[in-house]
Amino acid sequence: MRDAVQLIQNARRVFAASHIDHDGDAVGSLLGFAHILRQLGKTVTVALADPVSWRFEHLPGAEKIHAVKPSPDDDLLVSLDASEFNRLGAVLTPNDLAGRPLLMIDHHITNSRFGTVNVLDPTAASTCEILYSLAQALDVPLDPTIATCLLTGVVTDTLGFRTTSTTPRSLEVAQALMHAGANLSEICQRAFNSDTYARLCLTADVLHRMTLDEGVLWSQVTLDDLRRLGVPYAESAGLVGYLNSVREARVAVIFRENEDGRIDVSMRSKPGISLASVALALGGGGHPQAAGATLPPPMNAARERVLAELHKLLAGTTVSA
Ligand code: AMP
Ligand code: MN
Ligand code: MN
Repeated sequence: MRDAVQLIQNARRVFAASHIDHDGDAVGSLLGFAHILRQLGKTVTVALADPVSWRFEHLPGAEKIHAVKPSPDDDLLVSLDASEFNRLGAVLTPNDLAGRPLLMIDHHITNSRFGTVNVLDPTAASTCEILYSLAQALDVPLDPTIATCLLTGVVTDTLGFRTTSTTPRSLEVAQALMHAGANLSEICQRAFNSDTYARLCLTADVLHRMTLDEGVLWSQVTLDDLRRLGVPYAESAGLVGYLNSVREARVAVIFRENEDGRIDVSMRSKPGISLASVALALGGGGHPQAAGATLPPPMNAARERVLAELHKLLAGTTVSA
């Protein structure tokens, strides 16, 4: 953390980015970080490869997020909530580094420490939880704007403080963020109790065609489904949680056909079953209970490969129900 503080203090113009297929922790950490640095008088550009989802567009500063690359004047590059460099997508590629320092801030256990300086804490339930400590280390007081962005990541990555990754620290941070002016119920409402009609139709299809295969409950989404129902690809994430709620499922998986034809794999597991090794074997990453990977097409081949890996994992794991 000390090296990170020094890098930030020495910077004038900062370029910050978060991961493709963004979630609440990606957007919350990106915006929270930018607001913290602006308190220090820094100029900050915020970038995401994909347009900001309606779920997060109300967050303060979300309108300033664009799919832009760093300018030659930026003297510090920052990666937030990304386990691998290539998860930043088109906004930051190796050519963009140009000898500049890259500050990497993340909480994925599979993180490859790709930064010049790495703030990696796999015990943190969200990147936003780490940023709370960073704000303290930088002596930046929390205001309602910073607190709202950070609490969004804390709440979404813990699914409302329900995941195995949630610790007393997550709750302490949330408490401090509420004291600083963040509205917990409003954040929960937008994150968990808000959907579109088209997306609920997609959910119905995904549930209708789910298959339980020896402890693995899986389903899939094709580009045809998305076109037929009018759901943008970026809005098709987050359905795997329904499958994982099933008692008989030790692991839940959703296969999604991406716009570039590749297959995005979202996996969830019950406590006691770690997906980290399977995710790494598939070239992906994530957390023990929530991981993913992106595989080449076709869908059937990707599915067979993942299901084989998961059955191998389950054959070597005993879990008490
Ligand atoms: P998701 O299922 O998309 O919500 O992702 C669950 C977790 O797995 C997140 O922490 C992601 O960062 C990680 N993850 C998902 N897809 C990939 C991927 N293609 N490569 C690396 N990590 C991934
Ligand atoms: Mn994330
Ligand atoms: Mn995260």
